[in-house]
Amino acid sequence: MLTTENHGDVTVLTMNNPPVNGLGQGLRTAIVDALHAAQADPAIRAVVITGGGTAFSGGADIREFNSPKAMAEPTLFTVIREIERSAKPVVAAIHSVCMGGGLELALGCHFRVAAPKAKIALPEVKLGLLPGAGGTQRLPRVVGLETALNMIVSGSPVNSEKLAGTRLFDAMIEGDLVAGAVTFARAAVDEKRGLPRVRDLAIEHEDAEAFLQFSRNTVTAMAKNFPAPAKCVDALAAAVKLPFDEGIARERELFTELIQTPESRALRHAFFAERAASKIPDVPKDTPLRTVASAAVIGAGTMGGGITMNFINAGIPVHLLETDAKALERGVATIRRNYENSAKKGKIKADDVERRMAMISPTMSYDDLVADDIVVEAVFEDMEVKRAVFGELDRVMKPGAILATNTSTLDVDQIADFTARPGDVIGMHFFSPANVMKLLEIVRGAKTAKDVLATVMKLSKTLRKTGVVAGVCDGFIGNRMIEQYSRQAGFMVDEGASPAQIDRAAEKFGFAMGPFRMGDLAGNDVGWYIRKRRYVEKPDMSYSRLADRLCELGRFGQKTGAGWYRYEKGNRNALPDPVVDKLIDEYRSEIGITPRKISDDEIVHRLVFALMNEGAKILEDGIALRASDIDLIYLSGYGFPLWRGGPMLYADMFGLYNVINRMQEFAANPYGDPESWKPAPLLAKLAAEGGSFTG
Ligand code: NAD
Repeated sequence: MLTTENHGDVTVLTMNNPPVNGLGQGLRTAIVDALHAAQADPAIRAVVITGGGTAFSGGADIREFNSPKAMAEPTLFTVIREIERSAKPVVAAIHSVCMGGGLELALGCHFRVAAPKAKIALPEVKLGLLPGAGGTQRLPRVVGLETALNMIVSGSPVNSEKLAGTRLFDAMIEGDLVAGAVTFARAAVDEKRGLPRVRDLAIEHEDAEAFLQFSRNTVTAMAKNFPAPAKCVDALAAAVKLPFDEGIARERELFTELIQTPESRALRHAFFAERAASKIPDVPKDTPLRTVASAAVIGAGTMGGGITMNFINAGIPVHLLETDAKALERGVATIRRNYENSAKKGKIKADDVERRMAMISPTMSYDDLVADDIVVEAVFEDMEVKRAVFGELDRVMKPGAILATNTSTLDVDQIADFTARPGDVIGMHFFSPANVMKLLEIVRGAKTAKDVLATVMKLSKTLRKTGVVAGVCDGFIGNRMIEQYSRQAGFMVDEGASPAQIDRAAEKFGFAMGPFRMGDLAGNDVGWYIRKRRYVEKPDMSYSRLADRLCELGRFGQKTGAGWYRYEKGNRNALPDPVVDKLIDEYRSEIGITPRKISDDEIVHRLVFALMNEGAKILEDGIALRASDIDLIYLSGYGFPLWRGGPMLYADMFGLYNVINRMQEFAANPYGDPESWKPAPLLAKLAAEGGSFTG
């Protein structure tokens, strides 16, 4: 955990707690013990603290989060106090990563030396918190109020050389950092530089009061629903106005307030959800991976084009195959236009356009794909077309190649059985636009081989996607849940709400877009197509038929200039349309409903609890591995507000007992499909036990 090595009269403490020297209780204890040992050893005149491996320290040990160990003595606060009390100078030797508690530790040292290119940050705000071990009080004393405020409010890392002129670093060291730090420490003793403490420095600023006021206004406006950034400003104000120890007490108070906010809980949930998603219980971490150095994409339409761009952006060349020459030409031209637009906006360099285009090999022959490591199929959503494509892929692809389908609704197991190698087949469900949306549902078929799954999980990271595993079922995780949400949205229009009111309520709750604006954007014909299938497959399932009426009029949404709203040419603004109002009135009287006023609260809860109840069924069915996977899907692919953490965490925070009571109220309404408000058995069980989905 901590190695101690004496370099003559200087002792070097090296933190060794991979991967980033997280300051867990074991390491904290070891540092305090080693400091005390150094005090007691008359041969030692100074101490250097550094980090082994690829970090000085990344801060708190996240494995201790939410455990008593996180707050157990010696806390980081105690460690820093012991360093400050040391009778022998302590020098932090910083390289690579120095973040959060790692930086707070360094700020407690008497001196700091750094290697170039070290990443220096206080990223706590990203978890809805603020630095809680003196960071907000000490950092402005060494880098100045403005730099400290920028770093603490943004949480973003700054390169060490950019901070070289500040009092944060007493020296920059090129070459051997530890040797340089030892020399520095010895010189500090020889030159009698004493035991300077950051806490004793003053914060200099010409007009701190005005600067803080201005910052508070700007930060509050920008942070919108997140309270942490403004509290960071409050903590910095305390640093400016209060004596050091009172400032520390204020920082602690603010930290305690923040850790209890639902927003911080949601951000921490999302952070851990992302990490948990890559763990698949029966697929060991050391599963050997297949190589993915070249790819093929079948179909150069909306999805195929975006998927191709994902591979190219990650440096993986693509064979793009179409059976229709015109479609191929059109697909390649669309990709070029996308890259040219990115270059115009300065997102990529002008010569990157050609470089990237050169990585695409358009083809109409399957034989060109023989050497590719992976293929993603994105042809029409039609089982017979998929059968033909997978037959060809089975014929040409080399043994061990991964065969992926981007189907949104078809049975991946059936597709796998079109080949003689179903173990190599997997679903890669991208979201539109595929080159933009972060979410990738990775659909594990009954026969998908473990190494195929592990390789595609890894590939999702290479493609900079948030990969989440789903089992095979209609709609997988995200779309299976959204269907229940859309059904309730439809019922609420039948009952008396307008599409605009529902959209407004959903958007006020924080959804990126309400259900009707979303339908108009994605194309109402997509849902229509699915409903027509449902009417045959599940005749008992009820739907509002209003959306069908809309589609019968050709109102597919933005692409046809009209849907639930009307659109003016070249403008995406949703405008109210009396034609739709009339359609709604007629439909209501036809089905015999007298419209009632529906509150925004009812709207939001019917939408969100419909998602959550289906989510609970998905968990029970084993389609999702964990509740946090479901939340991650909703946060990264469906515009669920980040500060609410996803539908499952939202239900937990609402209280599952309260959720069930609310569902019973909804079930009493004959027009909202009472059957669907029956709590999923898992929900009922957890509520009865006082449990929760997310733990
Ligand atoms: P699209 O109609 O835009 O593109 C399909 C392309 O496949 C066309 O260019 C067509 O010429 C080509 N094609 C058809 N048959 C082919 C064959 N036998 N061989 C080679 N190419 C062939 O459709 P899309 O929206 O890109 O959807 C493609 C797939 O992605 C579907 O399975 C769909 O369910 C799925 N998907 C779509 C979305 C979406 O929002 N559009 C989202 C997720 C998944």
